[in-house]
Amino acid sequence: ISIMFFYENMKFEATEKFVHIKDINFLKSIMDFQENIILIADTNNKVIHSNKQFLDFFCIKNEEEYNKNYNCISENFIDLKYYYSNSCGDSNWIKEVYQSQEHKKVLMLNLDFAEPRAFKMSINYLKDYSYYVLTFTDITLIEEEARIFEYNATHDHLTSLYNRNMFSNLYNKEKSKINNENKNEENGYLILMDIDKFKTINDDFGHLVGDEVLVKLAKNIKAWLEKDDILFGRWGGEEFLFYGKFNSKEECIDFFNHIRLKISKLLFNNSQNTFTCSFGITTNDFNVPLNTLLETTDKALYKAKDNGRNRVEFNTSLINSMQRV
Ligand code: GH3
Ligand code: MG
Ligand code: MG
Repeated sequence: ISIMFFYENMKFEATEKFVHIKDINFLKSIMDFQENIILIADTNNKVIHSNKQFLDFFCIKNEEEYNKNYNCISENFIDLKYYYSNSCGDSNWIKEVYQSQEHKKVLMLNLDFAEPRAFKMSINYLKDYSYYVLTFTDITLIEEEARIFEYNATHDHLTSLYNRNMFSNLYNKEKSKINNENKNEENGYLILMDIDKFKTINDDFGHLVGDEVLVKLAKNIKAWLEKDDILFGRWGGEEFLFYGKFNSKEECIDFFNHIRLKISKLLFNNSQNTFTCSFGITTNDFNVPLNTLLETTDKALYKAKDNGRNRVEFNTSLINSMQRV
């Protein structure tokens, strides 16, 4: 802002396109006082002036050195999701960003090739000079904190699986995808898995060993599902939820029987013990709220528990069967 103000005041002298050397030094020292990287570019994208932060970031002595290596600052933008880049090489991008009145997020790597840093870029135009002022505010720390915050809000802290909230969000995303594609059938299945007699594991070996079982179970299943397009999350406690597409109910049941057998071979408590899980499955139906479908999977799970545990049971939802009639 102070630079803009200074430039505004300089307009009087600029009518003769003459800027006193004293004023340039004054301007430069104001720019150097800013924490942000500031550069002034002409309409050919060449850097005319810059501040100390700019020169330090690129480890250079002056603007000429920069202009010798780069045609435009956009060559330093790393093309990564969620960040602005000028990958098509459009030479008018500064003008376009300025006219869009948007602050863009960019990633830049300094010439020390340290970690890339994230910046908020804002662009102003000095009409009387036909110069653009580009300001880069370092938001790396804010971005990192936001990422940690987002991760914690969407993942279970013990198993690192998606939590209930994230599972529901991803499930709803799948739902809108199906709706947009105008498909009625998507052959989806919901599977609720529950560790058998988990309370006994906690009682016999302690809560920490119980935690070890949860982590081990989550980690192994995640690895087994790696190539399969199956959504998997911790629904709560010792209950886990899956959503996946299968050609038939039988294929889905077979798949989870396979998982069930693999679980029964996992060892815990210094390789001394094994445990088992029970599964309840129902056909997914995006016209029915997830909670209602879960009641159906819960009934299937109860059936698996009643029939002796370490089993996979299927329950056709009431709504599904009604629709079929
Ligand atoms: P069932 O075969 O009928 O499912 O029996 P269960 O003992 O597994 O079921 P129950 O609901 O009686 O017990 C669930 C236990 O899971 C009780 C609770 O303390 C434990 N649990 C839930 N969350 C955690 C956790 O994060 N860590 C540990 N160690 N235990 C947990
Ligand atoms: Mg349970
Ligand atoms: Mg249980």
